[in-house]
Amino acid sequence: MPSKLFGLGRLQRKVLLVISVIVIVPMLVAGWLAAEWVSISFEKRLEQWIVDAARANQNWLQAYQNDATMLGRVLADDPGYVANIERNPEEAIPPPVRRISQELSINLIQLYTPDKKLLYSSIPVEVSALWARGQTEAVLKVVRKQKTMLAAVGITPIPRHGKPNYYLVLGSLLGQDFTDEMAQLSGLKARLYYREGKNYYDLFSAPGEVIALKHLSAAALERLEKHKKSYYSLDAENGQYRGLYMPIVDPTGRVEAIMFSGLERRGVQEVLTNRVALFLFISLLGIVIGGLTGLLLSRLVVQPLQYLRNGVMQLAGQNFSANVPITSNDELGDLAKAFNAMAARLREARDEQTQRFQKDKLTAMGEMSAALAHEIRNPIGIINTSAALLDKPDYAPEKRTELTRMIREESLRVSNLVQDFLQLSRHRQPSFAVIDPAQPLTRALDLALAGAPLVTVVRQFDHGDAKIKADPGLLQQAWGNVFTNALQAMNGKDATLKLRSSVENGQVTLSVEDNGPGLPADIMPRLFEPFFTTKEQGTGLGLTIAFTLVEANGGRLEAQPPEGKGARFVMRFPVCVETKS
Ligand code: ADP
Repeated sequence: MPSKLFGLGRLQRKVLLVISVIVIVPMLVAGWLAAEWVSISFEKRLEQWIVDAARANQNWLQAYQNDATMLGRVLADDPGYVANIERNPEEAIPPPVRRISQELSINLIQLYTPDKKLLYSSIPVEVSALWARGQTEAVLKVVRKQKTMLAAVGITPIPRHGKPNYYLVLGSLLGQDFTDEMAQLSGLKARLYYREGKNYYDLFSAPGEVIALKHLSAAALERLEKHKKSYYSLDAENGQYRGLYMPIVDPTGRVEAIMFSGLERRGVQEVLTNRVALFLFISLLGIVIGGLTGLLLSRLVVQPLQYLRNGVMQLAGQNFSANVPITSNDELGDLAKAFNAMAARLREARDEQTQRFQKDKLTAMGEMSAALAHEIRNPIGIINTSAALLDKPDYAPEKRTELTRMIREESLRVSNLVQDFLQLSRHRQPSFAVIDPAQPLTRALDLALAGAPLVTVVRQFDHGDAKIKADPGLLQQAWGNVFTNALQAMNGKDATLKLRSSVENGQVTLSVEDNGPGLPADIMPRLFEPFFTTKEQGTGLGLTIAFTLVEANGGRLEAQPPEGKGARFVMRFPVCVETKS
């Protein structure tokens, strides 16, 4: 797994993930609810609009017929008129009323006998199917100059009451421009299905073709014809439209035509009424917005944190010149400022420490050199003076032997001093091994006792199987120096050495106690100081070397109060815990 994905850090990806989860789930829910609400309310609004527009279309058609029926009734109620048309059928519309009829767009005037024989027609038209008995309004198919049209007519029996002598048919001829106009006004597709027998037909939708209304279900037809109620369908006209079928009912209750007003199923309204599409659109939009917000937020918060992280890593890698850019004035900005101040302080402290270390090193070197020079000056002085005395020819021979002895002794002292000093200054690097802590101790003892006067050794080793990690050669050397001091201090008389070991709190303790004169309290603080000695031939480096060697092996060397009267030196080492494979 790469640590960076799309250039984002791990923390940034986490922030992005959390925000995305927080956003995605509510977005899906909100998307679904919104899709439900929008689609339902939009569908309702569409239906309402279609119903209103269809009603306007219906009223428009009805207005033609109402006008015709009204005019017919006015004429039929005039007894003079009735008497006149018997003589002059062509005066079906008397001259004084003609202007009104023109105003009402009544251009078709026909007079029929009761057995539906045409007595007079204002326009020569052929009516293929006549109205039914008792019908007062009708939408009829007519052929004029070989062109098929519809006529919205009102049928008035004359006289109006009793047995009719004539039928006055007044109406308006409707061409395809009628439905086109309706469509233009309402913004909906309008179709007019006229009735012929038991069936309904549309003349105008496909020019030159008569389309039957066949795709309506029986239930829908029953609702329209029997109950005379509108029928709304989402899949009208073979699924091409959502629209309303409205029955055009004449005053006697007969359905004379069915008018369809519909909206084609395509475009934006299809998306707005489609729940799944809406849900996908809203959710996707929400998720994209949420994702972008998350990205922005993660950058805003995580970027400064990343700068800080880099700064801390640089400090950890001892790069004290690390500096974090301050990108904002908020808490993160304060953190960056505090970090920079801390880095600056660490820089100063490091510089100070380096300077102090250099100074301390020079001071220590100076002190060491002075001490060494001091230690060497005495024997060299003695050697010098002795050599000058030996040069005198009158010097007594027995005194000469004494001087030679002194020169040899002092030379040996200088030699020992130089040897110890070398040992102190460049002991080798320890090569660690897991060992029994008593091993270097006993080896050093064996070496020290070889050729030494009789010494009683009491051993009490209680460290069991505990092991330490150390360089046995170096530790043997350290113990060697301790034993040399002890043997010198006991000077051979009833000499007893007590060797002990124990384990406590994860530490191995090893001690050597002699029964010499012991350590006076005033020299205790100076025991491990270089060149501190109380012996005439001492170099004062034995314990310093031992101390340095034990420290290099991860341990500690101390002088502790003895059980008896002598001196007691203790070494401590951490127990080595071996990992079992
Ligand atoms: P050196 O042995 O050359 O004097 P060390 O550093 O070994 O140098 O010892 C320093 C001093 O500590 C000795 O001079 C001596 O006074 C004292 N000392 C060390 N070990 C013992 C001991 N076992 N008993 C008494 N004094 C001791």
